[in-house]
Parts: sequence; C-alpha cells; structure tokens
Amino acid sequence: MQKNLLYFWMMFLLPFLVFSQETPLEKSGFTRITSYDELTGYVKTLDEQSDILSLDIIGSTLQNRPVYALHFSKKGVGKDRSKLKVLFFAQQHGNEQSGKEGMLLLAKKLILPEFSHLFNHIDLVLIPQVNPDGSEVNQRRNGRHIDLNRNHLIMTEPETQALHMLFDRYLFEVTMDVHEYSPYSESWEKSGYRKNSDVTLGACTNINISPTLRTFANEQVLPRILEKLKQSGFSSFLYLPGGPPEISYLRQSTFDINDGRQSLGIQNTLSFIQEGMNGKDMFLENIEHRAKGQMSGMLDMLELVYEQATVIKKMVRRERKSMLSGLSSGATSIQMIHRSDGTMLQLPVYSYDLAKDTILVTDNFRPVVESLKEVDDPVAYLIPQDDSNLVNWLKNTGIAYGRFPKKKGVKFETYYIEKIDSIDFEGDWVIDPALAKQLTGHVDQSKYWYVPVRQLKGKMIIQALEPKSMLGLATYPQFAYLVKSASDYPVLRVVKKGKE
Ligand SMILES: [Zn+2]
Repeated sequence: MQKNLLYFWMMFLLPFLVFSQETPLEKSGFTRITSYDELTGYVKTLDEQSDILSLDIIGSTLQNRPVYALHFSKKGVGKDRSKLKVLFFAQQHGNEQSGKEGMLLLAKKLILPEFSHLFNHIDLVLIPQVNPDGSEVNQRRNGRHIDLNRNHLIMTEPETQALHMLFDRYLFEVTMDVHEYSPYSESWEKSGYRKNSDVTLGACTNINISPTLRTFANEQVLPRILEKLKQSGFSSFLYLPGGPPEISYLRQSTFDINDGRQSLGIQNTLSFIQEGMNGKDMFLENIEHRAKGQMSGMLDMLELVYEQATVIKKMVRRERKSMLSGLSSGATSIQMIHRSDGTMLQLPVYSYDLAKDTILVTDNFRPVVESLKEVDDPVAYLIPQDDSNLVNWLKNTGIAYGRFPKKKGVKFETYYIEKIDSIDFEGDWVIDPALAKQLTGHVDQSKYWYVPVRQLKGKMIIQALEPKSMLGLATYPQFAYLVKSASDYPVLRVVKKGKE
C-alpha cells in the first residue's frame, strides 16, 4: 500500500519536478543575467534529470573556466552513424548574453518527452557559452582581449581550439553560431534609421564552399525559419551587416573564414549564423524577448533539420567527398569581392522620425560574391620545420601533416615576392604581393613538414597559405613576417609534374 502510494506520487510528481526546472534567468524573473556559476549549477541539474542529456567539458579558458558542451543523444553522439550531427554554439562574444540565455531555455525544453522524437534522427551538441571569461565582465573579447570570432583561422585561443577539436571529433553536418547585433551605431542613428529585426539569420558566403550547400541553406532553410520566427511573434530578417546605405554597402556578411560560421562551412558543413538584436545597454534590457527569440530560432532550425535529416546527411557527405576528390586537381579562390546583382534591398528598419517600423529601399546591396583570383590547388604545402609559429599553427588547427612521403611525379614551386601592394578587402586594406612563381630543383625534404591539401580542411589550408590570399595567414600581424618584399616566401608548393 505504502509502496503503491509512493509509486503514485513519484509518477505524479516526477514530470513536474522535471518541468519546473527554470533557468537561472527565469528564476530571477528576467532581471538578472545567468552567471558562470549559475550556468554550471544549472547544466549539472539538467544532466542529472535527463537520460538524453549528458554533460561534457570541451576545454578550459585562460581563467580556468571549463567550457561546457551539452550532448543530446539516445546512444551517444556519433555512435549511431545514421544520425544527423548538429552543433549549436553561443556567446563567443561575452557581451551578447541572449544566445546563452536562449540556449539554456532550449536545453530545458529538449529534455521534455515531447521533444524526445528529435533525437531519433539527430545527435545534438549545445555549447551555451564559448567565452565565459568575457561573459563574466560582459565584454566582447575573451580573457586576454582576443576577439574569438576572428580567431578561427589562426586559432591562438583555447576557446576556439576547443570548439574545433570538438568539431573534428564528430564532423557535425549542421552547425550554427549564435550571436547578437547592436543596431544603435552612431552612423545609423545619423541616417535616421536602425535595423530592428529581433532575430537575423545567415548562411555561408565564401565562394569555395560547395554551391549546393549554400543554395540549399539560402533557398530551403533560411526563408522557412525566418517565416516560422514571425509566426512565433519575432520579427526576423536575413543577417546583413553593413550600412547605413549612404555610407557603406549591405552584404550577406563577410566571406572571411576566420569566424565560427565560415570556418566550419569551409569544411562543407551546412553552417549558419543567428544574430538576435542586443539591448541598447548591451546587457539586460529586453532580455526575456531577446532570449526567447534566440531560443525560437534555434528550435525552428532543429525541427527543420530533423525533418530533412536524411537529405542533409546525404548532401553533406556527398559534398565533402566531392571536395576531397577535387582537391589538388581543382582551383581555389583566394581573392573575392561583393557585387550587386541589381536587387533592390527592402530592409526592415525602425525610423527615428516616424517613431515606427518601416522599410528602407536601397540599391547599395551586394549579395553576390565573385572570385577575383584563383590558384591551382597544389598537392601539398611544405612548411619549414624551424618556423615554430607555423608549426604551432598546424598543431592548434588540427591540420594533418607529417614527414615527406615517397612521392613520384611531383615538383616544387616557390614564390618570389617582388613587391607588396594592397587590395580592398570589404573596406579594409590587406596585402596583395606581386609574385613570381619559380620551379625549384632540389628541396631538402628533412627540413619541411608535408601538409597534404586533400583533407577536410584543404580549402582552408590553401586560403591560409597562399601569399596572395586576402584571407591568408600573412594578413595577420603574427604572420606578417612571412611576406617580405624582394624575398622568397618560406612555404613551398608541391605540384604534380606536367602541371603549371
Ligand atoms: Zn557576436
């Protein structure tokens, strides 16, 4: 009898215990941002309550804060090879709090029985807070003032290294990087308008990423999620940095591969960015709506990729395979430019004069990315072993490299840098060296590491190591020494014989 009663109460109460686990932000009545300690406590509690969720630590920050990853899976992420692997990560920028808060709201939902069907087709990893050191003091950058979302190519920081190590372990097919944007810039205010969409979404734009994946993202995914967001009461639009139009063009974001979206996209991942609108105080203002908007966009994305899981899984596998087989015989774009295609952009904005939302129509919109310069893919690059900077880069990025293999039918190319010009890169100037390519007869193979380009990071490697690449390592201060006027570029190319 007593036992039955206990059983009854357990069955009756247990769902409520699970359901009532409010996030720290909710518990505060949306008056306090979740601190790192609260986040730690909360994700541990969720972990204890759910069989679907298990907690992982992917690395540690400079100030020794573990970075948490929440695995949602029925058998363990990657164990069942038929599952679509999905990774969402938030708060690379510590002063963009709503991504973390939205992801905690999402985690709370996902352990409920009504969402468990998602994990019949999906393995999901959530990282609610990539940059806890920055978040604790509400600053954009990490603990030693590095912008993590410009660090995904040179990868000097423990946070970006941890994220990419996780990616490399599972090779997620779908990823989304969650941010916030601030519409309150001085130049926009002067123009009389500001952007005013609760949630914006973007896909990849680097031209070396599979066109199939980019088209699928732009045509099959983004419009549907933007529509669903509107149905849930959140204004939404494409992720379009730039403007105001009288000063600078609007574009579907940079084609640089140093951010969270494109550094994973360049490995032919179906990769996205979501940006919610920040508060004017860049902190707490309107946080309930902001967090719920972020959560809504993430959940919509999850449900869409769940419905399309088989299609996406096959598509990504095919596009990765075809990239791998094409590498070292194809070409890679190393200089690109945004162009208009004549589209008049109808940008939803808030008008300061009218004190209401309106539509700003402009032709200063450049949605197309075109290649300005391509190079033939080499078979491999040779990295001088005594350049510890470059060797550390190989290690930090997880690029595969090794001793020189016995290879027939290859020859070696070096670049001689004649002089250094510059080229406009999205409004900034970067180096544009004038090069002479030379064949070199003898190479002391024991002095170099051999970096084959036929690997998933191959397109990234080429864009990083070509001296004329506007996204290359040499455009970073740490690697500027690689390109010097009237001297040889220290990295060599290995190419097939009979190929220029
Ligand atoms: Zn951001």
